[in-house]
Amino acid sequence: MKILLIYPYFLETRVHTAEDVRAVPLGVYYVASVLKENQYDVEILNWYNINTTPHKISEVLAEKKPDVIGFSILHANRWGGIEIARIAKQIDPRVTIVFGGIGATFLWSHFLTHFCEVDYVVIGEGEYTFLNLIKYLESDRSQAIETIKGIAFRHDGQAIRTRETEAIGCLDDLPVPAKYFSYQHLSLTRGCAGKCNFCGSPRFWGNNVRFHSVDYFVDQIERLYRKGSRFFYFSDDTFTVNRKRVVDICKRIIEKELDITWSAISRVDYVSTEILYWMRKAGCIQISYGVESGSEKIRNFLQKKITTAKIRKAFALTQSYGIMARAYFIYGCPQESRQTIDETIALIEDIKPLSAIFYILDIFPGTRLYEDFKHRLGVSDDIWLNRAEDIMYFETDPNLTREMILDFGQKLRLAFYERLTGFTEALQLIDRKDLYPLHADFYSRLAMTFDHGDYSRIDAIKHKESITEKLYRRSLTYYPNARAYLGFGILTQKRGAYRESGRILSQGLSQFPGDPQLNISMGVCLMNLGEYEQALSRFLGFQDVKEAVQFAAECYKALGIEDPNVA
Ligand code: SF4
Repeated sequence: MKILLIYPYFLETRVHTAEDVRAVPLGVYYVASVLKENQYDVEILNWYNINTTPHKISEVLAEKKPDVIGFSILHANRWGGIEIARIAKQIDPRVTIVFGGIGATFLWSHFLTHFCEVDYVVIGEGEYTFLNLIKYLESDRSQAIETIKGIAFRHDGQAIRTRETEAIGCLDDLPVPAKYFSYQHLSLTRGCAGKCNFCGSPRFWGNNVRFHSVDYFVDQIERLYRKGSRFFYFSDDTFTVNRKRVVDICKRIIEKELDITWSAISRVDYVSTEILYWMRKAGCIQISYGVESGSEKIRNFLQKKITTAKIRKAFALTQSYGIMARAYFIYGCPQESRQTIDETIALIEDIKPLSAIFYILDIFPGTRLYEDFKHRLGVSDDIWLNRAEDIMYFETDPNLTREMILDFGQKLRLAFYERLTGFTEALQLIDRKDLYPLHADFYSRLAMTFDHGDYSRIDAIKHKESITEKLYRRSLTYYPNARAYLGFGILTQKRGAYRESGRILSQGLSQFPGDPQLNISMGVCLMNLGEYEQALSRFLGFQDVKEAVQFAAECYKALGIEDPNVA
């Protein structure tokens, strides 16, 4: 039996959350690994952008000839799933289509009622349910399908579901997907300590937070590390919910000398100096916190249950350990007004986040907000027959208009960007000698973000060049850092100050003599000073780097020597 697991495309192109939508959800890897452990032929297709080359959908499906296709449905990619399923059924009407994931779980009846392409829905935690369904499909089907817990299907034209499946008691019973696949999003936990009314996680995962063991989690990182991954997203709802487990994981990463960096998600009420210290030592470079709003009234409405004091403390502590604290804000909430937006701006000024993401409040199935919406407007799940990705709260509230919301969004983003340089200047890192190399790393990364990363493209951020230079300099006051020497050297070159640049790069090379980029930049500097012979000798040491070969060719030409690389 050939099984495809497809992560379908979204209707709209996302800008701010690109890294999230591009990645196949971790759950798909778990489902696939369970199938592999049971000797099934399964393949994962990341079709988050297949709609840019739509002819490939039928080409690939015709070639692979799947018997079953499982779709990973978030809310916003459901139309992608339906459209691909339609094509699959046209190619081979016998193919079985299964929808799963959070979007399918809360709209199982809707999908089965309105879309004949969908044969089954896996409800909730899917690994063993999907396996049981596959076993059923390839059997003689003498077993009553109703005995498979956690699925929904059509019976006599009606959508029906079976009994709820039990949550997996021991998460470590699941095979480590890294045995079979490479990926960057990992998770230690399932479930969340919070119960926010706009979030589907509490209902999807249940009331308790479940954990993988330290061994399982670190083994997964190590396997991926051995395959070449160096950066990870720990995508738990609240990674730090269990202090001891997190500290143990960090210590283990350090002991095993896994040279990785990673970002995590947490809540402001679940971090402490101890956790932050170990997280930073183990390679954490960013923590995202849901702050949501500066207005306590709105935070209370969202049932966020965090105080301003806790938010302030978490941001100050996180950034003092050289971890970028990212704030997620939601606007367009009930009772949003100029005043609540001003309160959010005041909070931004107060907590000085180095990164901030602003979302409009969406209404997702599976949340209390959605139940309230259906009740308020007297609508049913049929609302999702609209070819739209999501429902924004403000569209359902007569007190809010699109113009207001756009204006609020602009104000918030502008307020953040205009203050960002000041936030950066105000940074004060904790004075611990063992953290100095990491502080140098932190400042050089931040400088790079202003220099040629995300912040370099944002006009509202002023004085980018001067803050970049300050950050590179600060980095080097803590510890020699190759990235800082290189960035500072190139920045100086761009100003045409080649001698000064050469001096900075020489300092860097005295610390990191074999660093290719420092050597190549030094070569470029020497070329600009007319010292082609010396430049050439730099480039010749790095003939496996394309740039170095190109620069060497320029040197040969300037020196009037035949380039041995030209036939
Ligand atoms: S928004 Fe975050 S903290 Fe709140 S319930 Fe969802 S995952 Fe938990």
